[in-house]
Amino acid sequence: MSKQKSKKKLPLAAKIFFALVLAIISGLLLQSNAEFAEIYIKPFGTIFLNLVKFIVGPIVLFSIMSGVISLSDIKKVGSIGGITVVYYFCTTAIATAIGLFFANLFKGAFPILSTSSLSYETSSEPVSGMDTLVNVFPSNFLNPLSESNMLQVIVMALLIGFAIILLGSKAERAVSGINLWTDIFMKVMEMILSLSPIGVFCLLCPVVAANGPMVVGSLAKVLLCAYICYVIHAVCVYSLAVFTLGGMSPVKFFKGMAPAILFAFSSASSVGTLPINLECSQKLGASKEVSSFVLPLGATINMDGTAIYQGVCAVFIASCYGIHLTLLQMITIVATATLASVGTAGVPGAGMIMLAMVLTSVGLPVDGIALVAGVDRIFDMGRTTLNITGDASCAIIVSKMIHKD
Ligand code: ASP
Repeated sequence: MSKQKSKKKLPLAAKIFFALVLAIISGLLLQSNAEFAEIYIKPFGTIFLNLVKFIVGPIVLFSIMSGVISLSDIKKVGSIGGITVVYYFCTTAIATAIGLFFANLFKGAFPILSTSSLSYETSSEPVSGMDTLVNVFPSNFLNPLSESNMLQVIVMALLIGFAIILLGSKAERAVSGINLWTDIFMKVMEMILSLSPIGVFCLLCPVVAANGPMVVGSLAKVLLCAYICYVIHAVCVYSLAVFTLGGMSPVKFFKGMAPAILFAFSSASSVGTLPINLECSQKLGASKEVSSFVLPLGATINMDGTAIYQGVCAVFIASCYGIHLTLLQMITIVATATLASVGTAGVPGAGMIMLAMVLTSVGLPVDGIALVAGVDRIFDMGRTTLNITGDASCAIIVSKMIHKD
């Protein structure tokens, strides 16, 4: 696009990074006057978070509906669709589990912060497993959205999405309407994300002022944890899958994927990487008909890196607040992060919006996003790389399976 424009304008990622550095420096300078940061800076961060909370409901509802609707092609492509969706869901669930496992190993190294600079109301009432199950199902159309009950919003989106598929051509107008509203809300999300530098500064500065340099060290630890998981997932899960199901040497796979991997790492966008991913996968032997179905679908609904990031950040944020996550909460995180994958757009920063949904689903404070938002781009580069590599591994495997028959 306009090279000139990007020369003039600082990219958003650079602005966010600049805001992060500025927030740390100002926070350290304000340590003796943390109250000032709390009273005069934090409210602007709260405005940013409110906007994130506002958009997460519509984004989840509409993008999951449009994700489900895009699956209607499954009928047309028969077994390709079936294998693809099973592979996508299984690898994403494994990714979240890996993220949770390693984040729990790292937990001792994560700090408990003075969260007075963040707000969190906890409900002390214990909730049983059965209650949790019952609460997943909405009894009202509006409450899930107004109460930000993300699990209920997901159930609504799935029900409506499947109903639209079943109605077939009768629901054509609804399909285009939903796709249009998805685009509209995505645009709103983009507008909100463009405020990230201000949000990051105003959220992080009071936290650093209240907690000192400890926060900075903890960010390095949580990033390291996420990257270890990204690498483990790629090396273990994709290598094994490509080798056993796709009959391809993992070395050949990763070598052939190098251009797409580099592009994804620098662009942080699965959708943007799609053309180059198609090319790499086809060069590696994926058939054209399979890759042109599997890869666009993957760029829309398959986000293993994002799922890992959400698992790791959920444990990190919980531990910063001194909250212990129960097994049931962990299982809920695996389920919601897997579903969040369907609703995450393949554009930079989308995973952070969906993190709000994962946190809400287990009652963790959305404000905790403040702790990781400043380095989101660094998380995003790795998670996007993993996202597109997962899509390509699926194209190789499905091609091999289809050609066998
Ligand atoms: N940037 C990621 C992607 O394009 C989505 C995310 O933010 O997690 O795959």
